Amino acid sequence: MSDIVGIDLGTTNSLIGIMEAGFPILLADANGERLTPSVVHVPPTGEPLVGRPATRMRPLNPAATIYSAKRFIGVRGDELQSEDADVSYKLVRGRGEPVRLCAGGVDYLPAEVAAFVLRKLKGDAEAALGRTVSRAVITVPAYFNDAQRSATKRAGELAGFTVERIVNEPTAAALAYGLHQLTSRAKIAVYDFGGGTFDVSILELNKGVFEVLATNGNTRLGGDDIDSLLIAECGARILDGALSPEQRAALRDAVVDAKHRLSSDDEIAVNLPFFAGPESVSFTMTRSELDELSRPVIERTRAHCRRALADAKLAPADLDDVILVGGVTRMPLVRNIVADIFGRIPNVSQNPDEAVALGATIQAGILSGAVRDVLLLDVTPLSLGIETFGGLMNVIIPRNSTIPLKAGEMFTTAVNNQRVMRIKVLQGEREMARDNWPLGEFELEFEPAPKGVARVGVQFELDANGLLHVLARDTKTGYEKIVEINSAVDVSDEAVEAMIAESLEHAFDDMSERAWTEAKLKADEMAGAVETALGVLVHQISAEEATRIEGLLTELRAALASGELQRLKQANAALDKATEPLAAMLLQRAIADAEASLAPQRIGPGVAAAGAGEG
Ligand code: AMP
Repeated sequence: MSDIVGIDLGTTNSLIGIMEAGFPILLADANGERLTPSVVHVPPTGEPLVGRPATRMRPLNPAATIYSAKRFIGVRGDELQSEDADVSYKLVRGRGEPVRLCAGGVDYLPAEVAAFVLRKLKGDAEAALGRTVSRAVITVPAYFNDAQRSATKRAGELAGFTVERIVNEPTAAALAYGLHQLTSRAKIAVYDFGGGTFDVSILELNKGVFEVLATNGNTRLGGDDIDSLLIAECGARILDGALSPEQRAALRDAVVDAKHRLSSDDEIAVNLPFFAGPESVSFTMTRSELDELSRPVIERTRAHCRRALADAKLAPADLDDVILVGGVTRMPLVRNIVADIFGRIPNVSQNPDEAVALGATIQAGILSGAVRDVLLLDVTPLSLGIETFGGLMNVIIPRNSTIPLKAGEMFTTAVNNQRVMRIKVLQGEREMARDNWPLGEFELEFEPAPKGVARVGVQFELDANGLLHVLARDTKTGYEKIVEINSAVDVSDEAVEAMIAESLEHAFDDMSERAWTEAKLKADEMAGAVETALGVLVHQISAEEATRIEGLLTELRAALASGELQRLKQANAALDKATEPLAAMLLQRAIADAEASLAPQRIGPGVAAAGAGEG
């Protein structure tokens, strides 16, 4: 079997590795560097520069240098948040269109920028190994939605890879960590704080099986946010007016370097040669100043950790270990806050920059057969379902379900002689369909029949890459449609955090609306059925009985108009009980009709059934 490489495609840096003689090895470029900055510089002529040479061009020509492209992968223009616009290159954002990154007069899709980085990693790996590599495992933040995963896969393909698997970053990190502990059973938290994203995952390791119990995070929270605060603070400190783009880029490099040094030093000097024309600028910065500024950003991770623990139904004390991943976790303040959140000193035995890439490499080894006896299970970050009659969300795959998996449910029609059923696929935690994110929709045609007769099976299959295949089948005709939901721009990838926060905030209203809608659907259905039954059975029930039922029908309509849930529920129950004898009579009639129809029918002139076969 051919080699498969493991790739950590990071917001700030990317790495590539391969299994050699049973060990995951990270490969270095010609200069011996294993970290490749995820930066692309587009010069006026010639090929784009990638990695460290591109980083060097950033202060000189910030507008032509793209960094943090991962923040925009699979994102639509109207989904961009204001803090995202804080980059030194131009963003092109049309409503409903994928965001494009403009540098050197060219508009790139974020996946195309990622492909430049992946192509360089591929070239470096091939140079280091002396052979070609064409298959890859690529990691993504656990919270990447379908669109972002697809765009990442496409980036890999553009770079010339066959992408064998998309793996969640915290899962990969845990794999790197757990490979040495295959015999023990443990529950761990992976706290992954990178340049652009924050993820926390709770995993269970058991005899070589990794199961993700819960994940939470924010695709727009990272070290970049600390950098922006530092630039604003230091910029105001050293200059009266606004910063030019070049000054901003130079200041960014200086404060990022300062931030890194303050992870080990208490106080450092920041020097900016020729910052204001011929004038150089220098100032000192202390760790406590950095801590004060960055604390609010780091504190935002606390709520995500609490939610992940709650979803996994665990208390901090139930965890055996907390692993730190991502460059930002080198900050002492991050380590203190993590210790406070989880009530234990975090494990820093892994190199936070390399754990994800090592895990991706091990996963690549599992796929190529180089590593055995390890299985990887993952979970869905948000519930997946379809819209049902009355605008309700019907969950088919609940959030935090282990993937890959298949789940299905049977549906029927709500209207007589309906010819098509519209399947609207939704992602989210809200009770009403309109409050969830539409992933796509399609129609399934079937033979007209009275309402409630058709049987349409809807099956969701989430594959190992987290891509969703939706199948709808008319069980009578066998007619079916399968749709792959992987459109890069149809999905809103608003932070999952916002969705969950919203669902908690609106939980009470949502539940009441759902309860009301369900009671109303039942009332509408019953009112229609009772009216029909009264008509059909007019000669079989007493006038007294009919009047009593009509009275209850009137009350049902009044309850509907009142908008009072309890009143409607009572009216439903009262009418339901009062019409039990009617239902029994209808059933008897139906049985009698059915028995009558079993009798052979004479084929002769004037019998409609006889002509049916000839038509
Ligand atoms: P990653 O996305 O995991 O590569 O993490 C990159 C982020 O970690 C960037 O925001 C870096 O500035 C930050 N980072 C890297 N090294 C350090 C360090 N020694 N101290 C503080 N932050 C760091």
